[in-house]
Amino acid sequence: MRSTMMDVPLTVTSIMRYGTTTFRGKEVVTNTGEGVRRRTYAEVARRAARLANALRRLGVDGDQRVATFMWNNAEHLEAYLAVPSMGAVLHTLNIRLSPAQIGYIATHADDFVVIVDASLVPLLAEVLPHAPTIRHVIIAGTPAGEPVPGAGPLAGPGREVHGYEELLAAGPDSFGWPEVDEKSAASMCYTSGTTGHPKGVVYSHRSVYLHAMGPCLGNAFGFSERDRVLPVVPMFHVNSWGFPFSAVLCGATTIMPDRHMQPAAMVRLIESERPTVAAGVPTIWQGVLEHVRAHGGDVSSLRVVIAGGSAVPHSLMKAYDELGVTLVQAWGMTETSPLGSVAVPPAGVTGAEAWPYRDSAGRLFCTVQARLTGDGGAVLPQDGETVGEIEVRGPWVTGAYYKDDDPQKFHDGWLRTGDVGSIDEGGFIRISDRSKDVIKSGGEWISSVELENALMAHPDILEAAVIGVPDDKWGERPFAAVVVRDGADVLAEHLRDHLAASVPRWQLPERWAYIDEVPKTSVGKFSKRTMREAYANGEYKVIQVG
Ligand code: AMP
Repeated sequence: MRSTMMDVPLTVTSIMRYGTTTFRGKEVVTNTGEGVRRRTYAEVARRAARLANALRRLGVDGDQRVATFMWNNAEHLEAYLAVPSMGAVLHTLNIRLSPAQIGYIATHADDFVVIVDASLVPLLAEVLPHAPTIRHVIIAGTPAGEPVPGAGPLAGPGREVHGYEELLAAGPDSFGWPEVDEKSAASMCYTSGTTGHPKGVVYSHRSVYLHAMGPCLGNAFGFSERDRVLPVVPMFHVNSWGFPFSAVLCGATTIMPDRHMQPAAMVRLIESERPTVAAGVPTIWQGVLEHVRAHGGDVSSLRVVIAGGSAVPHSLMKAYDELGVTLVQAWGMTETSPLGSVAVPPAGVTGAEAWPYRDSAGRLFCTVQARLTGDGGAVLPQDGETVGEIEVRGPWVTGAYYKDDDPQKFHDGWLRTGDVGSIDEGGFIRISDRSKDVIKSGGEWISSVELENALMAHPDILEAAVIGVPDDKWGERPFAAVVVRDGADVLAEHLRDHLAASVPRWQLPERWAYIDEVPKTSVGKFSKRTMREAYANGEYKVIQVG
């Protein structure tokens, strides 16, 4: 029997319509460096309509890809709403990749238009020779009529350059938003891909809508109209974890850092705009913490700081507790929109008992089903102890990559995450490592994440990264690279003793190096691939201990 319910699609258009009318007076606030600029959601909706009209005039009349090359700001939010709602596909380009890589991605996606922030024009100029499909460049973030330095080389045969504000000035304030199929593409994002070419993930209107509701759930972050949300995670990385869509849907104020993401600027923005919720990778929160410790700063407006993208050090969470701010760990991937789980402890579990839950990668969302697999794909028990590869499925999990087969990643309707860990009966997942980062020593597994966590708990260690390196006797052994706090002097012997308090002795690294900074990927995670290459090339001054 079929249901009697209406088949009304879940779309970005409905997020925009609801959020910008019900909460018309709510604002998107953008940091300008000297202060902030504010725009109401009603105004954002009018400008989104103008943007859609302008794109239509440029020839966007179907599912063409409209790329963005932008920071987190009000104009990027306008593109987030307008492009999918007009039936086109928003493609957020990661500005931190190399020009050739960005060009590969833009060409693979067949980008037709790109909207670029004026401050990123010189970078885009280096990309365009690698991106022949782009026919229109729209420069945002400068007043109408004002020349943009460095914009000359953007125009070329078959490619026109336009001003965002000039295009919007032509109006009108309304657009005949089509009724789009909820299963059609709304936006796309390429994985940061540590091997091979980056792979495209295409989000549907339905998946974006459902995912936007995720953070609003009480079991997650309970976003509501009463919140002021500061998404620090870039809008070019998995839709800024979907938070701009969530904020509009629930009527929260959105606070955008634009390009001012240095710790001092972040603390100033937090003090002046008083966000209640913020989100970003652990490195960002480490920077903010260091700044507050060194120079002071009031971050008490934050009821929750969401950290994810890589394991969140226990020491970082404890340090924020001391500031009166709860840091909540979340796990996810580009392929999972990205939210997969949130580490909020079960009801009634507090204090010391809450730590095993807070330190985990979190409890799975209702829409994300997971299983563990072992050798040969055998399904393993979810008893909180058995360790295997985590596989997931769900309505906001991708079932394929765009135009790229990857049978290694998808099988029997499940996505292989490449993350190794356990799942307990209550749906909490604990990740011991990426499958390619676990260290296999004498046939036994060592978790690089566990060693890093224990090292970063040392008061004199700012960052620590551990990789497996070849060893004649054991096959592989851990190599630890540490960044020591300014002015501190810690011997590797001492760090080994410190580690011995929390991990078995046979897991203690014998090879150590002091470095200035752990190399990071384009989205701010530790780049172990860079470290492995540097180690193989003999670039580390390795100290042998033990
Ligand atoms: P990306 O697609 O670039 O967002 O990367 C996804 C990967 O980041 C996951 O497969 C995990 O390996 C890692 N990751 C994300 N969140 C966490 C977390 N809370 N703890 C450990 N690893 C994480």
